[in-house]
Amino acid sequence: MNIFTQFNFPATFMEVCGTHTNVIASSGIRQMLPENIKLISGPGCPVCVTAQRDIDWVIELAKTKQAVVLTFGDLIKVPGTMSSLQKEKAANSDIRVVYSPIDALKIAQSVKKPVVFVGVGFETTAPTIAVAVLKAKAMKIQNFYIISYFKLIPPALEMIATNPRLNIDGFILPGHVSTIIGAKPYNFLAQKYNKPCVISGFEPNDILESIFLLLQQIKNKKPSVQIQYRRSVRVTGNRAAVKLMNEVFAKCDAEWRGLGVIKNSGLMLAKEYQQFDARKRFNLKVPLPKPSPCRCGDVLLGLITPVQCQLFGRKCRPSNPIGPCMVSSEGACAAYYKYNIKK
Ligand code: SF4
Repeated sequence: MNIFTQFNFPATFMEVCGTHTNVIASSGIRQMLPENIKLISGPGCPVCVTAQRDIDWVIELAKTKQAVVLTFGDLIKVPGTMSSLQKEKAANSDIRVVYSPIDALKIAQSVKKPVVFVGVGFETTAPTIAVAVLKAKAMKIQNFYIISYFKLIPPALEMIATNPRLNIDGFILPGHVSTIIGAKPYNFLAQKYNKPCVISGFEPNDILESIFLLLQQIKNKKPSVQIQYRRSVRVTGNRAAVKLMNEVFAKCDAEWRGLGVIKNSGLMLAKEYQQFDARKRFNLKVPLPKPSPCRCGDVLLGLITPVQCQLFGRKCRPSNPIGPCMVSSEGACAAYYKYNIKK
């Protein structure tokens, strides 16, 4: 017997991690659940949630050829309003893919031009960039800059939990982010908004157990924040990593694709580290983004599934992505396409 059939009430859960999105798609978890239990994908892919105007700013910087632009892989293919980093690279802008911020420091030491690292990610990535900034300061590297588009997960979850258009009964919380921040920053979801939460690992069995725990919380009417991913996550998180993040960055309002501006949901360089801020070094005027037929914003909010976008699989495919959710390996549209999910 399917252990989920004992729960005969409707429940919709949102996963907020691109890796979970991928595992759910590749393992067929969605299809094996009874009809009354639905999984929807949320804003868990860092490249996908980066606002169009922020992508446009980086492309504009690359176009000016004033700096070497360094980025993690997926971002290079994300379409901006008029171009993409990939197109600008083909047009001879110096854009390089790096695999760690320490590689970025090495490049800064080897060239005379300013070097700008595009900082996209959540609480998982920000501490590693903080280390790079501290090293750059200690080593007196003068040509290293960061454009900080880092985002914080809990404020986005509060926005989702309070959005009347969304009917989320519980959250499958991200394992990587929670390894850094722990469980406590999510307590408000259970205590204030009565939303069951489970921090999940990344194996299909982890996710299935997390769904089971969420359903039990609903059945027992006892919402809480449970840790299923106990082999990595502690209630208090990784204090050393959080300390580094808080040393180098300060909270700021940030624009999320699809979610708009969310108060205190972003990280900017703290006062003592503003010499590394690319926005202060390069004063670029970037036109406002033009409307796009891409519905990534609705996908990231769980308002539609990728296949409900008219462009899915037709004009928009991994070989010709119209939006970031089809570019990134963590994007919901790319996962639905790769694993041929029909609804
Ligand atoms: Fe955007 Fe393509 Fe996804 Fe549609 S299928 S929402 S165009 S990324």
